Amino acid sequence: MENGEHCCVKVAVHIRPLIGDERLQNCKECVTVVPGKPQVQIGTHSFTFDHVYGRTGSPSSAMFEECVAPLVDGLFQGYNATVLAYGQTGSGKTYTMGTGCRDGSHTGIIPLVMNALFSKIDALKHQVEFQLRVSFIEILKEEVRDLLDSATVGKLEACNGQVGKAAIPGKPPVHIREGSNGVITLSGSTEIDVSTQKEMTGCLEQGSLNRATGSTNMNNQSSRSHAIFTITLEQMRKLGPISAADSGPNGDVTDDYLCAKLHLVDLAGSERAKRTGSDGLRFKEGVHINKGLLALGNVISALGDEKKRKEGAHVPYRDSKLTRLLQDSLGGNSRTVMIACISPADINAEETLNTLKYANRAR
Ligand code: ADP
Ligand code: MG
Repeated sequence: MENGEHCCVKVAVHIRPLIGDERLQNCKECVTVVPGKPQVQIGTHSFTFDHVYGRTGSPSSAMFEECVAPLVDGLFQGYNATVLAYGQTGSGKTYTMGTGCRDGSHTGIIPLVMNALFSKIDALKHQVEFQLRVSFIEILKEEVRDLLDSATVGKLEACNGQVGKAAIPGKPPVHIREGSNGVITLSGSTEIDVSTQKEMTGCLEQGSLNRATGSTNMNNQSSRSHAIFTITLEQMRKLGPISAADSGPNGDVTDDYLCAKLHLVDLAGSERAKRTGSDGLRFKEGVHINKGLLALGNVISALGDEKKRKEGAHVPYRDSKLTRLLQDSLGGNSRTVMIACISPADINAEETLNTLKYANRAR
């Protein structure tokens, strides 16, 4: 990657415009971007990132081209990758990723990934046979819920108030497993084979709808869960073997076979538990969510610490379901982009500063 192999995580900041609610409350903007530099200022604090995207209605083209397109290209060379959207609830994570229900007015990162993926496949399909699979899951309170299980929505309604129960009656729970080759797989979740962009879009939409439906029934659960849309790309050469120089890093590579996956993650809201109310159940959920985000922060900063890495320091993947699931796609040969989403409004200044500090630690 551009930053050299020692910096395995690229960090971009996405500043959304003031939205209706903030305008109604007469909020002022408290975030400034240093002209011509990827540098953000808030109060007396100043942070420099790999990229800063600000206040334009749609994040689409520049952010995609600079941050995500290289990861899609890497998939074709066998490199796993992860895109993470981090930030407080309402900061624009779902809008940026495209994991919400479609409003037609903008295109999020996942639909742009699909465009790039399918046009590349189209260009290469005479030499290479491709197989694509997708899964879409949600992690809430350290339990994994399958968003592509067609029975999920109905069953959740039937559960009526069983807040956040990932284990739906009659359905085996989803488990994260690590193979002897270090490859992480999910057992018990739906993986759908797709051959067209339309089918893949259908999966994204169905899962997004499942997530949203869950959230109205369950106290806006979507702000407290991590949603992970995963695309797995398998390639088989039709004409002769792939040259040694082409072979990928995943250990399971033969001369003419490559397999890699891209995780697109809409993380849980990063706000502190105290702001969502710290009584009973909600507090417990807050603690669990912080567990995933905390573990992610620790993993990323361990990966970024060159000195520690050289000493073979422990990377704490096992501290949460989120980092466990992403283990083979964070660090090592894989490529990671974190998009820190922030509101420019003064009422959110404290959380915005927290987000910028978290993102800064990832660099
Ligand atoms: P989150 O997923 O972080 O909770 P959302 O993506 O749901 O936040 O965004 C919160 C609100 O802000 C939504 O109404 C969304 O349409 C709006 N919004 C987010 N990002 C932008 C943007 N870049 N331009 C315009 N509106 C945005
Ligand atoms: Mg959201």
